[in-house]
Amino acid sequence: MSNLLEHRVSLVDELLKQQGSLGTAVMRFSDWHEEQAGVPSQERFYKKLMPMGKPGVGHQFAFEVNLDQCTGCKACVVACHSLNGLDEEESWRDVGMLVGTRMQPYVQTVTTACHHCVDPACANGCPVLAYEKDDVTGIVRHLDDQCIGCSYCVMKCPYDVPKWNSKKGIVRKCDMCSQRLAVGEAPACVQACPSEAIAIRIVDQGGMGKVRMLPTAFDSSYTQPTTSYVSDRVVPQGARDFGDAKLRLEDAHWPLAWMLVLTQMAMGLFGVGLLLPVAGGMEWGNRLAVGVLGIGIGLSVLHLGQPMRAWRCFLGLRKSWLSREIVVFGGFLMVGLLAAVFPGGWTTGAAALVGVVGVFCSVMVYADTRRVLWNLGSTAWSFFGTGLLLGCAGGAAVMGWMGPSLLAIHLGFAATVVRTGLFVRDRLRLRGALMDEGHENHRSARKMVELKGGVVRARAVLFGVSTLLGLMGMVNAGGLAAWWATGSVLSTVMAQVLERHLFFVAVESPRMVSNSWREMH
Ligand code: SF4
Ligand code: SF4
Repeated sequence: MSNLLEHRVSLVDELLKQQGSLGTAVMRFSDWHEEQAGVPSQERFYKKLMPMGKPGVGHQFAFEVNLDQCTGCKACVVACHSLNGLDEEESWRDVGMLVGTRMQPYVQTVTTACHHCVDPACANGCPVLAYEKDDVTGIVRHLDDQCIGCSYCVMKCPYDVPKWNSKKGIVRKCDMCSQRLAVGEAPACVQACPSEAIAIRIVDQGGMGKVRMLPTAFDSSYTQPTTSYVSDRVVPQGARDFGDAKLRLEDAHWPLAWMLVLTQMAMGLFGVGLLLPVAGGMEWGNRLAVGVLGIGIGLSVLHLGQPMRAWRCFLGLRKSWLSREIVVFGGFLMVGLLAAVFPGGWTTGAAALVGVVGVFCSVMVYADTRRVLWNLGSTAWSFFGTGLLLGCAGGAAVMGWMGPSLLAIHLGFAATVVRTGLFVRDRLRLRGALMDEGHENHRSARKMVELKGGVVRARAVLFGVSTLLGLMGMVNAGGLAAWWATGSVLSTVMAQVLERHLFFVAVESPRMVSNSWREMH
């Protein structure tokens, strides 16, 4: 027995001794530096990780990540954080993890940053042109002093790269340490990686966008990312992001939720206003419309981190749907004011038309992000449906205050039909996505039910309340038709705002691997 114990102790000692002499990647890196004489010349150290010259025409710099070398130590994340002077919660480079399936076991840490895309979605979406792609190096730089902090690039980038900085009220992102590259120095991440897993290469822009970077990455044809991930091992096609195991809610964007509902209501009110008699009905309908429009646009400013710079939002008109939305809604407010001051068929019709164009821009703002829940058909149905619903409900209330009328009853009835149609459709979609694990919106449906069940129930209650109040208005219960109809409008607005809330928080934002392991716990 004592012999056996002695043997065990000596084996443990032996293993500990062996471990001490193994040397980690960090130790080897440190020893390597110490062995060099004199002050390290960066060029000498990182030559093999850096291109010899500048990219030629049609070429650009790009990251190359050797997955077999990455140990997930996060030295790259720390170096990027420190060299770029990032704030505490900020991170321009992330390390996540890919895992295989039961049939194809696989575990791989993955370091990611901006992919300096050939056709950068961030730049295409920015309403104030706060991104520039360098003609020579191809690096996509963010111009901090131009950014208005609208976060639209965060929605547009399918790799979760631009990061919101709440202290500065803008987003920021990796610029491949362009100033270091300009003087032949390696970017912080390249220099810090003890395993030499990250390198800078020159790539042909024409060859980008043909293959997915990794199985969990977004379709490359969208932005043509330039990073390449190389490995001697085959990455299983079924590999998934380890962080996917956890459902996570996206930003609520409350000011945007209100802005969307109120601008859609204004469009609906001007549209329905064409049916109302000019004296009284249209006059008050237009005033109500321009009032809610003004509140909606005013609230949207609260969404911006740098509202004082927002006047430049027309700069991105050529490519950005957000820029178009802002400009058209500005025009909508002007035409709406005209219709409120001079109510009539022409002014009200013009306001309704500009409103339709504005709401279409809103639809495109979200559809253009290519997020599945925000697809064109579904978003258009939801936004225009809300406009029609609130236009009819609002019109019924306006007419209700003018005294009992057949038109008020008809509008109340139309609102009930549209409200029921929208609600039933949403319920069926939610149920269908929830029950089918392979459904493209399954995770969004789970988020709504598992993480936002209270909001889903509150919305159902508001649907019931607004429908009941609408019906009481139609039958003029107790002679209080106007009050019931007004209550119905208010509860409908609340219900639609909650629906927009779910629209924002339950969407799945594409990302290759989760931001950081912190998110997974
Ligand atoms: S990865 Fe995202 S942030 Fe970087 S250039 Fe491409 S779209 Fe823009
Ligand atoms: S203005 Fe908006 S879209 Fe442009 S960089 Fe800033 S946050 Fe991104």
